[in-house]
Amino acid sequence: MWRIGTLAAALAMTLACAPRGAAPPAAPLSVVPDIVARRAQFVQKVLDAEVSHLSPGDRLALARLAEAAETIDQVYRLQVWGGNAALATRLDALTGPEAVAARDYYRIMYGPWDRLRDFEPFIGDRPRPRGAGFYPEDLTAAELEAWLQAHPEDRPSCTSITTVIRRQDGRLVAVPYSQAYRELLTQAAEKLRAAAAATDNASLKRFLVLRAAAFLSDDYYESDLAWMDLDSLLEVVIGPYETYEDTLFGYKASFEAFLCVAQPEDSAALERYKKQLPFLEESLPIPEEHRNLRRGGESPIRVVDELLSAGDARAGVQTLAFNLPNDERVREAKGSKKVLLKNIMRAKYEAILEPIAALVLPTDDVDRISFDAYFDHILFHELSHALGPGRITLAGRQTEVRLELKELHSAIEEAKADVLGVFSLYALADKGEIAPEVIAAQPWTFTAGLFRSARFGTTDAHGLAVLIQTNYLLDKGAIEITPEGRFRPLPDRFAAAIRELAHELLMVEALGSYDGARDLVQRYGTPRPEMTALLAKLVAIPVDIDPVYPLASGVS
Ligand code: ZN
Repeated sequence: MWRIGTLAAALAMTLACAPRGAAPPAAPLSVVPDIVARRAQFVQKVLDAEVSHLSPGDRLALARLAEAAETIDQVYRLQVWGGNAALATRLDALTGPEAVAARDYYRIMYGPWDRLRDFEPFIGDRPRPRGAGFYPEDLTAAELEAWLQAHPEDRPSCTSITTVIRRQDGRLVAVPYSQAYRELLTQAAEKLRAAAAATDNASLKRFLVLRAAAFLSDDYYESDLAWMDLDSLLEVVIGPYETYEDTLFGYKASFEAFLCVAQPEDSAALERYKKQLPFLEESLPIPEEHRNLRRGGESPIRVVDELLSAGDARAGVQTLAFNLPNDERVREAKGSKKVLLKNIMRAKYEAILEPIAALVLPTDDVDRISFDAYFDHILFHELSHALGPGRITLAGRQTEVRLELKELHSAIEEAKADVLGVFSLYALADKGEIAPEVIAAQPWTFTAGLFRSARFGTTDAHGLAVLIQTNYLLDKGAIEITPEGRFRPLPDRFAAAIRELAHELLMVEALGSYDGARDLVQRYGTPRPEMTALLAKLVAIPVDIDPVYPLASGVS
């Protein structure tokens, strides 16, 4: 049962709990005093997507899939915390000016802990169980380790990604998901089979039938393989995937769903761009012997619009892209698939990048940014990971860039993908493959984007990558700082500076030069005061979107 802590109750405001029927009055729920401000970090955006090109069978399948996703959402709530159902009932009864914000924030966070603040409680003061709802709440890592030492035969089932751990008669037992969530998973499996019966796409039918069986057998391997073979306008992810929610051991997978639809024009553009990869490799600004024309064999990329997300995929900050499956056996057999969510990117562009541009670009330049320039750059960032040196030979020794650059590799590789993203757009524009408007908007959109990426800190790989780019472009005069302290790209110098930086980053990779990487980080890896000053002004800009899905309210 929910306990109200006195310390937090004293600090936090108290909201009255309206009486519900004959139930005894519960103790008031305490909610953090800044709940309205926290809720405002997430801007509601309606996520529309065109579905009129779907066949009648696929549209029917979509309705059943939406029902399956809602069921999966309920499974995830149980996985986050066993007390969620009782707390949701109490939250429904809250009244007062902050009640709506408290309910909204709870809905976004899937529990009383703030995912933007390291899981601090924002309702009550109960600390989050590190093992979420996957383990007994009082279980410590030491206790499970001791149990596994004494019962080594339990190790495979206890560390499985698809079991929960429960106490039974003084023992720790592993309960497969198919039993722990039997009722909900049986319902979800029925919906998947109904969707399989409705769709006329053979690859989707096969995936859904296999995935329905996996919900009841806990064996996801065949259905993961079938997912890699999907060739359908509907892109469907549904099942247990990521293990981040389990912060005790990282063993247990959370249920989630993404229902997405491919738009023919996006798929066609992507196919055109992929065909240009050999041309882009040949165009790289490095000596020919370092070009990597036989790289090939990269994992597929898809561009889709999201129609609905559920469970782990819906909690907290919305993902822009995912790369699945995680099962290494499937990745070895068939690689993995990267899926970019275009309408999520558009929603974030409007909610976050436009307001950032308004604060960091000169006032007269703010409307030079464009969504197409933003999206195409993200797309070419992803494609650019497949360009340039990967496996290299150093003094006769076969090695990989990743191994040579060690802990600096991610920052250098992310900077390379960002810079080659722009370089590729310019190279393809010369061939008439990219619209002139996308090129014209690129310097401003790119400059505003640097601040978007640097906003939450510059200590991680991508933050560091962004500093290298910003400072390099400033030093080359490709970006100037106005007397008002705003950042103005100079398009005449921009393309040349991008090319030079591409050369520097690619040569560090080609030579596997750890010293070269360290030198770049030392020269460019610290934010200039002008950037720090602008970043401080971005605090009031929303952190993320709160998606509203027309599909969730029911389609037939
Ligand atoms: Zn990347």
